[in-house]
Parts: sequence; structure tokens; C-alpha cells
Amino acid sequence: MQAQARVVVIGGGVVGVSMAYHLTKAGWSDVVLLEKYELTSGSTWHAAGLLPLFNMSYSVGQIHKYSVDLYKTLEAETGQDVSFHVTGNLRLATNPERMDEYKRYCATANTIGVPFEMIGPAEIRELWPLCNTQGLIGALYHPDDGHIAPADVTQAMAIGARNRGAKIHRQTSVTAIRQQRNGEWLVVTDKGDIVCEHVVSCTGNYARETLAMVGLELPVIPVEHQYIVTDTVPELVERHQAGLPEMAVLRESDASYYLREERQGYILGPYEKGAPACFVDGVPEDFEQDLFPGDLERLMPHVDAAINRVPTFEAAGIKDIINGPIAYTPDGSPLVGPAWGLRNFWLSEGHSFGVTAAGGAGKYLAEWIVEGEPSIDLLDVDPRRFGDYANKSYTKAKNEEAYEHVFVIHYPDEERPAARPAKTSPCHERLAARGAVWGQRYGWERPNWFAPDGVPAEDVWSFRRSNYFEHVGNECRRAREAAALIDITSFTKHRLSGPGAEAYLDRLVARRLPRAVGRVNLAHALTPTGGVRSEFTILREGPEAFYLTSSGAAERYDNDFLSRNLPADGSVRLDNLTTSLGCLVLVGPRSREILAKVTDAELSNAAFPWLSGQEIGVGLARTWALRINFVGELGWELHHPIAYQNQIFDCLVEAGAEFGLGMCGMRAMDSLRIEKSYRMWGQDLTREYSVLEAGLERFVHLDKGDFVGREALLGQQETGVPQRFVTLEVEADDADPLGNEPLYLGGLMVGRATAGAYGHVVAKSLAIGYVGPESAALGTELEIEILGDRRSARVIPESPWDPENQRLRA
Ligand SMILES: Cc1cc2nc3c(=O)[nH]c(=O)nc-3n(C[C@H](O)[C@H](O)[C@H](O)COP(=O)(O)OP(=O)(O)OC[C@H]3O[C@@H](n4cnc5c(N)ncnc54)[C@H](O)[C@@H]3O)c2cc1C
Repeated sequence: MQAQARVVVIGGGVVGVSMAYHLTKAGWSDVVLLEKYELTSGSTWHAAGLLPLFNMSYSVGQIHKYSVDLYKTLEAETGQDVSFHVTGNLRLATNPERMDEYKRYCATANTIGVPFEMIGPAEIRELWPLCNTQGLIGALYHPDDGHIAPADVTQAMAIGARNRGAKIHRQTSVTAIRQQRNGEWLVVTDKGDIVCEHVVSCTGNYARETLAMVGLELPVIPVEHQYIVTDTVPELVERHQAGLPEMAVLRESDASYYLREERQGYILGPYEKGAPACFVDGVPEDFEQDLFPGDLERLMPHVDAAINRVPTFEAAGIKDIINGPIAYTPDGSPLVGPAWGLRNFWLSEGHSFGVTAAGGAGKYLAEWIVEGEPSIDLLDVDPRRFGDYANKSYTKAKNEEAYEHVFVIHYPDEERPAARPAKTSPCHERLAARGAVWGQRYGWERPNWFAPDGVPAEDVWSFRRSNYFEHVGNECRRAREAAALIDITSFTKHRLSGPGAEAYLDRLVARRLPRAVGRVNLAHALTPTGGVRSEFTILREGPEAFYLTSSGAAERYDNDFLSRNLPADGSVRLDNLTTSLGCLVLVGPRSREILAKVTDAELSNAAFPWLSGQEIGVGLARTWALRINFVGELGWELHHPIAYQNQIFDCLVEAGAEFGLGMCGMRAMDSLRIEKSYRMWGQDLTREYSVLEAGLERFVHLDKGDFVGREALLGQQETGVPQRFVTLEVEADDADPLGNEPLYLGGLMVGRATAGAYGHVVAKSLAIGYVGPESAALGTELEIEILGDRRSARVIPESPWDPENQRLRA
């Protein structure tokens, strides 16, 4: 084996081979793939080969679409038949909520160009004459997908990769991985060592073991997944003999199974309740190409459901039960992107639909490795979306839950119960006593809304306005008319300090840093193409110290970003303060009067202006008070040592009683921020849209000197931006925009909404998003697709609430 390569890919399943294929396609031929046994000997060999295009995620949807398109071209390119049966794919619905889910998905599908049809029972019967349509109200039909032979598609990509120079070494096991002083990686194998610039880990069920070699704990634990293969079925033989086409892959979502034809018999694959996690402590040495015994009892409810739906299934004899390990992550999406804390170490792990995802994951990760950035937003699959909280126990519980939830209705306001509560703020019990209905983000419990006395503290999830609508509205009005307290302890908090901190941070963000101690700025770190990588609120805490807050979901992501290029001379120190500091936000027109009762600090506009911060006393506590907030009212964020949280909470609640202070949850905060057209990182601000497209010129100082993304912005200034940020007033009835809806002008798609909500105080349904410049003029009448209907959506001036920011400055 050669001793040197540019990239070493570990793992010869469909994902690793696609990685090698796409790296060579992107122009890097010096690629070596190492496989411990034979190609496809992991999960790939026993996969059912389905390629479902259906996915609610904007990132994953694009990954799947690319794969399906690619696989159709592989035979022509490589000569290897991949057995792609483009049968189409039918997802059945037995209830209106399921139809709502499909309609919501259709909006995403339209934004990424996946063809589909919504059909009724008569058309289902036409496509699937052997299906009993009793109880069905409709279906979602994808004409373009179907199934493929996983081993053949892997071999085809292996041929393509080899043709462009990649070397594949089978029977070669990676036993250790070490980074050398010069930054190169030493990959130790049982056949000798190999030194390389980049490593890509694609090791399927072995992901935790592989990453343990470099000191990382990955939230990947496989779950048992089984499918039944039947003997031939006379009715299918007849259809075959009559020259009729293979029927579409059938998914009865409400009974949690897929069914397809296989050699004139059936394959039935359920996602059962109670399927256990496996290999929790590693894959046994002797598991190579092995399977688990079938568990018929777990399969039976799905077998019965399939017999009801497809009566010819009843007489089919069971030929085989395949029960194999399928890698899972806590949210069911794979980990595709950089490994945190390591340079030039990449992951494509945790694939549960790996045959479907392999093509796209390979393409976009190859772009990231070769070009420095992927061409699409990959946050939904970024490995850094999980943190330390995702330990073994958490991962096991969540992965079993994710498996069981494959076919549940994916409500936009769904909150899953497993492994909770994991992280709580000290004031958790106080919030619970006030009726908090909890959600979870990045392991943190956060109140989504507060149920008033007498109202059950529980969500009724829906694609439409639901049981909490009125209560969230009251929280919004309270924040705008009196005062509200919001716990945002879950937000990410870092400190950069030291003699080199200013220069280091200045190069990372597009805006000048706050000059004076106690000043606060909102600033963006950009990608080289000018897209938004991160968003930070920056307080200058001292001459050489900056306090940065960012999205709660971005703790590992931002920590990785902030630490990646720290100067080697030790002139900058980075501290992650996320769990040592709490944050309570006091907002609303009465907030000054409330805070004044519990602090000696002077709170007048002159002494404590908007966008400034001071260390003040509140009751017995000391806290940094920042005069900023994400809802657009007079108010202070109180960042305090976490041990003081209840002291501050109690002081404020007591002081606020006479001013009508109440609690405010995350759903109200979302509505309030959309009334202000505030963009949210990860949703409205991603690498796909430049900071200029996002209309954030006021946060960019092109004349401040060099920073990442500056060149691209200068170019866009010259040529004009391809898209513009807009705020839209939507004519909705019982369903508001939520994000990921296509926007149309004169019937043509001209953009995409990234978020939306009912604005309870402005009493309007609102959306924010991006459209081409020709569609962005104020007053333009667009249409937005909500649950299958096109609704009018007029471009209105930004910030429907208090456009002049008078209330913030009050
Ligand atoms: C029963 C079943 C049905 C499925 N059906 C479908 C389906 O219909 N559609 C779909 O999209 N997905 C399906 N899947 C999921 C799919 O099989 C996986 O997502 C996919 O195969 C993952 O591919 P991979 O390359 O990531 O992992 P694997 O195929 O497991 O490959 C990982 C490879 O890495 C190698 N390796 C590990 N450690 C080392 C090391 N240290 N050194 C060298 N090599 C190493 C392993 O030997 C292995 O070959 C199914 C899974 C199961 C269990």
C-alpha cells in the first residue's frame, strides 16, 4: 500500500465509495479508500435499496434529490448496471393531518425542484390495483424514485472513482489515527501506515469506535431494522406475465411500513416500536456481514396492517427475514461535515438512509473539502449540531426514538419526549409552576409557551393554528404592552480575551468591533462567498475582552469556528461560558420601572443607552445587563453567574407584579421577532444567502480592512445581489407560513420563505424570505404556498412593528 495520499476515506460502504467517487470528480485523484473487509460488507449489503425522495428537511431533501438523479447516470458512465427500478413511490394517507404533512412537504419539494403529485383513492387504485383503498383519503406520489441494488450502485461508483485515479484497498483495517505536528494525518492500518492531508470517516456502524481513535464521541448508535422477503405471489406473477409494470413502492405511513415488489414477491419493511439499539459498546469482532435473528413478534402488527392494505400479502410465504444494524443519530439525519476541534478531519456518518443519501452527501462534502464550502446550506446535517450532552445514554434513547418516529407525522411544532429533561436552567421549577409547556433545543429545556391557570399545559401539535395560539398571543401583547420575562439561558456564550483578541475577532466578522468598553454590536461571520456562517452579539467587556452570544443551537458549531484559527502564540484565550452563565431577558415598556426597583444602577436613556451594557447589581446578584433583545422592545438581557439565577428571577417577578410582568416563551419570541423582521441564524441567515442579500448592509463595514467574505461582497456590490430579503403580509386563514414555502410571481417561482408566523400584535400573518430583485419592490403581490394553497403575500416595508425602533430607544 502507498505511504502517502491526499485524502484517505475510511469505509467501503455506499457512503465511503461515493465519497471517493465525488472527491475524484471534484478533481482530486490522489484518493485512497480503506475497507476492513470487502466493499459493501457493512449495512450496505443488506439494505432494501429504496430511494425515498420524501424528506421534510431542506438540506436532506437536496441531498436525496442529487443521489436519485446521479444514480440514473451511473450505468452510462461506468458500464455497471445498478438495477434502478424507477417505479415511483406512493405514500398513503388515512387522515387529514397526514395530508397536511404531505402538503407541507410539497412546499419544500417545490423549493428544491422535486416532482410529485397529490392524488386521490381512484388514482391510487390505478397505480396499485392490488391495494385496498378503503379508509384512504389520498396519497403523495413521487414518479421519479424507486429502488436500486445497493451493492451495484456502490460498485458503479467504485469503478468511477478508480477510473479517475482513486485506489481502493480491501481487507485493510484502520486501527489508529493520529495528527502529526505538521498537521498531516497518520492513518495506521493492519497493512501499514499511510500519511495524508485529509481523512474522511464513513464507517457506518463503527462510527463511535472510529471517532474514539481521535478523541471524539459521536452520537451514532445503530438500531435493529428488519424487513421480510416473501415467496412469489401468484397475482404478481400474473402481472409480470401480462407485461404490466412493477408497481410503485408503497408506504403506509399511518401503519409505519414500506412494501415493494421483489422478484414477483414482496418486501415488507416496518419501522417498529421497541426496535432496540445495538452495538452500544461497539461492534463485536466477529460481526462481519452478519445479521441478527428475525423478531417476528415485533413485525406482526405491521404484517397485519399490510394484509389489510394489500390482501395478496396474506397468502405470501415468508422466504426470509433480514434484520440488520442501521446507523442512527438522535434526529435521524446523518452527520456530514467537519469533525469539531480537528483540522482536515471529515465525517459522513450516522446514515440511516445511506443508500439514498450517499450520492448527495458525497457531492456536497467533496465540495466542502475541495473548495472550502458546500454549495448548499448543510446545517441540518452538520455534525456540530449536537453537543456534549449527546452522550451514550442520550444517544441510545434518542436513536431508538428517531427510528420509531420515521413514519410519525412530522409536525412543525413537535417535541419528542426521549432523554428529557437533559439540561435545565436553575429557574426551571419556577417556570414550570407558571405553566411552562416545554420544548427542547440542543439538550436544553425551554418553555415554548405558558398555559394560564385552568388550561392544560400541553401542546396539540398541528400544521395549523393550535391550542396555544391564543395564549402565545397574550404573551406577545404582554411583552409589547407591559413587560415579560424570557429565559434564554440556553443561548451560546463565549469570551475571547487577551492581547490578540481584538485583531483575531475583527478578522472573523464583517463589522467593526465595538470600540468602547460597554458597547454592544450585532456582527456576522461570513463564508468566503459572503454567506452567513455565524451571528454574534458582541459586548466589549474590557479593553482586551469580548463577550459573544449566539444561537443556543450553535454552541459546538460556534465554539469550533471560534477556536479553529486561534493564534498559536497564546495571545487569545477562548472560554465557553454557556453553562456557567444564565440569561434572563426583561422586555416591555414597563421594564425600566421594574428593573429600577431592584438595582441602584441609573437606567435612563442617557446613562444606559440602547446597545450598551453595564455590570449592575440586581438584588443580591451581580449581572451584566445588555440593553438589547430579540423582540424589539425596551429591555435588558441579564447575563449572570448561573448560581444567581433564582435570586434575579424572584426579584424581578416581585418587582414586576404591579406592572403586569408575565412570562414569555419561545413561540411568542418567534412571533415578536418576525414582527420586527429580525433574521434568525440557521433559518433566515445561512451560507446560502450573502449578508447583502439578507439586507444587513448596516452590519457590514467593507472599509474596515480585510475579513472573510469581503471580496465576494465587493463583487456583489458591483454586479447586484441575486436575491433580496423581503417581509411579506400573507392572507392566511387557519395556517400561517412557517418557512420553506415557495414564493411565486405570476405563477413562476421567484423565491422562498425562510420563516413565518402570525404577528399577534400587528394582527397579520407574516413571512420573511428571499426573492429575485425584480420581485422585491414594496407592494409587489406575490403568492406563497401554504398547505397546498397559494395565498397572496404582499411585499411590505421591513419591520411591521415599530419600523423606526423608537421603542428600543425609549
Ligand atoms: C435492513 C436494512 C434495510 C435498509 N434499507 C435501506 C433502504 O432501503 N434505503 C436506504 O437508503 N438505506 C437503507 N438502509 C440503510 C443503509 O443500509 C445504510 O444507511 C447504508 O448502507 C450506510 O452506508 P455506509 O457506507 O455509511 O455504512 P456501511 O455500509 O456499514 O459501511 C461502512 C464500512 O466501513 C468499514 N469500516 C468500519 N470501520 C473500519 C475501519 N476501522 N477500517 C476500515 N474499514 C472500516 C466497514 O467494514 C463497512 O464496510 C437499510 C439498512 C438496513 C439494516
